[in-house]
Amino acid sequence: MANKPNTPMLDQLEGGPWPSFVTGLKRLADDEGKSHAPIMKSLLGQLEHSYETRKGYWKGGTIGVRGYGAGVIPRFSEVAGDYPESSEFHTLRIMPPAGMHYDTAILRKMCDIWEKHGSGLIAFHGQSGDIMFQGCDSENVQTSFDALNELGFDLGGAGAGVRTSMSCVGAARCEQSCFDEAKALRMVINNMLDDMHRPSLPYKFKAKFSGCGNDCVNATHRSDFAVLGTWADDIKVNQDEVKKYVATLGRKGVNDQVVNMCPTRALSLNDDDTLEIDNKSCVRCMHCINVMTKALSPGDEKGVTILAGGKRTLKIGDLMGTVIVPFHRMETEEDYEWLVELSETVLEFFAENALEHERTGEMIERIGMINFLDGIGLDVDPNMVSHPRTSSYIRMDGWDDEVTKWNSRHGAAAAE
Ligand code: SF4
Repeated sequence: MANKPNTPMLDQLEGGPWPSFVTGLKRLADDEGKSHAPIMKSLLGQLEHSYETRKGYWKGGTIGVRGYGAGVIPRFSEVAGDYPESSEFHTLRIMPPAGMHYDTAILRKMCDIWEKHGSGLIAFHGQSGDIMFQGCDSENVQTSFDALNELGFDLGGAGAGVRTSMSCVGAARCEQSCFDEAKALRMVINNMLDDMHRPSLPYKFKAKFSGCGNDCVNATHRSDFAVLGTWADDIKVNQDEVKKYVATLGRKGVNDQVVNMCPTRALSLNDDDTLEIDNKSCVRCMHCINVMTKALSPGDEKGVTILAGGKRTLKIGDLMGTVIVPFHRMETEEDYEWLVELSETVLEFFAENALEHERTGEMIERIGMINFLDGIGLDVDPNMVSHPRTSSYIRMDGWDDEVTKWNSRHGAAAAE
């Protein structure tokens, strides 16, 4: 396809205030003399054809690189006769660094590699967290992977295996971070690499790591094994800064934007413009800390909450993860090793007990949370509740025994 095709329907997607992927495709198509220009012209033609006919024309297949069973998403065009230059448009899923930290030199090298071997089209980052190197023919899959591998990057997951993981930007740029997300990601995922490169699970398995309850990588609802930073002691308060917020926003402003927004009514503004927090009622939702960043911050006793079974739609609808570990302090190397062991236990239980095409959350729904906890060797904890002190996720028969066990672990005072 020598000329850029007419794309009246795609052109409409460039209207409005937001950047459009169509503009990006056109820019690559305009790179006259570059090897990716004809590919992108052809792709634009097929895409316009898809919009006209309201039909997708990509089919899958099997493409891989030596030694790996996953990581390349094959795409063959069903209308290759009309759009030959983009007849093969495979995607390489490349694992990003934990926390998505790059320097510009690496980004430039990635762009050079993909302009040489592929279509020039890169997406940072796909829903799974991968860097999506999109648009390469079968012949160039191995050479482009070799070049990216040489740069220090590895293929991520696809299919029924461990998928590429994500962690938030973390302590490098965020003061709310409650554990070392990057370290946790690398330790947990490095331990699962076999199941990422050579998928052999009943279905996909995702682990994500967020440094606090803001959950910037959507771990709770987008991963089978979600690790969220939190704290066990009291929120730290700088009352002088609280007073400055009151001076700026007024008492009404602070009440409207902070105090009354607390989901558990744990906050109150005293007459002298200081803030009082009923820390036992706080559920660590992060709202007050997000609004009054200078006055409030997470406590010192930092650690993680772990949830299992979050996922998008598929068979039984969207699921939020369920708390399986309410709090575990993350201080020493042993704590991170404990996390690796727990993730491995959950993955092994999933591998052995899930049905074909069943996610962790669906398996838990089918076998029951109590059996899942039993299977992975975790004790029931009264903190595993959907609404504090009201409704429990777990069946109540045998509850008295569990309370007795919990009391003996934590002491009578903690159980009050
Ligand atoms: Fe309330 Fe959330 Fe602040 Fe806790 S973190 S006090 S639950 S607003």
